[in-house]
Amino acid sequence: MRAAVVGGGPAGCAAAYTLCKQGHDVVLLEAQDHVGGRTSQVRKEGFNLGSGALFLMGGIYPRTNALIEELGHAGEMVGWDAHTHVLDADGSRYRVEFDQVLSFLKMPVLSLLDKARIAAGVAKQLVSGGSSSCFDGAELARHDRGETLETWSRRVLGDKGHDYITVPYMGFLYAVPMSWLSTSLFQAIVQQFYKLRLAVPPEGIGQISDWLVAGSPGLDLRLSSPVEAVERSGTGYLVRAAGTTHEVDAVVVASEPGVSADLLQGLATEEAVVKLRGCRYSEYAHAQVCWTTDPYPGQDVSVVLPARQPDAVWGAAVLQSHRHPGAVPPGGQAVGVYFYTPPLATMTDEEISQAAVDAARAAYGPAPDPDFVELFHFERGLSIAGPGHYATMSTLHAEMPPGVALAGDYFAHAGVEAAVLSGEQAAARAVASAASASEPVPA
Ligand SMILES: Cc1cc2nc3c(=O)[nH]c(=O)nc-3n(C[C@H](O)[C@H](O)[C@H](O)COP(=O)(O)OP(=O)(O)OC[C@H]3O[C@@H](n4cnc5c(N)ncnc54)[C@H](O)[C@@H]3O)c2cc1C
Repeated sequence: MRAAVVGGGPAGCAAAYTLCKQGHDVVLLEAQDHVGGRTSQVRKEGFNLGSGALFLMGGIYPRTNALIEELGHAGEMVGWDAHTHVLDADGSRYRVEFDQVLSFLKMPVLSLLDKARIAAGVAKQLVSGGSSSCFDGAELARHDRGETLETWSRRVLGDKGHDYITVPYMGFLYAVPMSWLSTSLFQAIVQQFYKLRLAVPPEGIGQISDWLVAGSPGLDLRLSSPVEAVERSGTGYLVRAAGTTHEVDAVVVASEPGVSADLLQGLATEEAVVKLRGCRYSEYAHAQVCWTTDPYPGQDVSVVLPARQPDAVWGAAVLQSHRHPGAVPPGGQAVGVYFYTPPLATMTDEEISQAAVDAARAAYGPAPDPDFVELFHFERGLSIAGPGHYATMSTLHAEMPPGVALAGDYFAHAGVEAAVLSGEQAAARAVASAASASEPVPA
């Protein structure tokens, strides 16, 4: 079978890899001049900066780990020590480990009563049976009761548990108010807390897509090839990109959902196109504050997370030298500052960059002016999984025309595992539905 994959982010690369492994003839069409999408690395003045994603999260990323293992790179993964400070509004700091949720219980700001309430909430969640997969949209949908994360965590963990655990945790991962999120992912993480471990490939998280492409036998990779149109042709499709028309039996569409809606207009049902266009995204900005001379030598804290503060502008400050070898040049340092979405609406890029320098100093201490600040500002940064999101997205699969399957992290909560899993599933769906479409109709 001949297949086209639209989009070379982790979802598209995982789909292409899966199809190639099965012996199909695959063309991967990527709009940019590199694969990786929002996980791409940007190299500048000796720094290797992640444009988006930071880390994999250990055992809650089973499919990503399995593919890395299969590709022979498991031994190269670099563990990321997650020494973390939770920064309080009055400047107090509480030392925790980001990948050990229970360490948050040791924060002295929590009273015995708070701790008892949080422990009871966690215990109740452990026995109540949440989603077994943290990033399978269909599975998460089954555990979405329509409550927001804010309401649930205040009710179950108490206000202190909400402010000092849920907010720093999910604020770091998604940078939006907890009232915008559903509960299923956080509940699943609480349930699988013992599986959390942060790790990165040696060249940064963007290397995962490079590994997938390199491990795809016979893959026809076309970079700088934005797909302009997908049209029906007999039982297959014509995919037009960069002046070339690719005639295929199946198409995996792994672009951002708005782009997928444009490409599938007239092919998928009108309902499906409306759902794709309606998929909610957050504006997201992070700035890498870069020094060629490290102002924080010997610093052992990898992440600083503000506890809930009125008008918080940033949700995390991350020391880049702790991420992977070569993230910063020898003797250099960078602090990545990750901003909350709401304040971005009224900030210019210059203000974001200056706020990042201020945040780096607030998080790690005084420092001279940086050599440069690299700003990554996404108009559509992360899909937002509010209550009902997973169920709506899950219905899309059945609304695709024969031989077409959708992939992307927006089917679950944004994250590399969601992307990779959806890519593998889309490859299977595309093959199955193309095969059934080409079967002769019984007389
Ligand atoms: C700031 C930030 C921090 C993050 N941190 C983490 C983290 O620490 N851990 C984690 O697991 N995840 C993290 N993520 C999320 C992670 O980056 C995404 O989940 C992942 O990149 C999604 O993969 P995808 O393939 O679905 O989409 P994308 O990565 O967006 O890839 C889509 C691809 O489609 C291409 N494309 C679009 N239109 C077309 C077209 N017409 N033709 C051809 N190609 C097209 C794009 O160029 C792109 O390469 C973070 C994201 C951001 C923005």
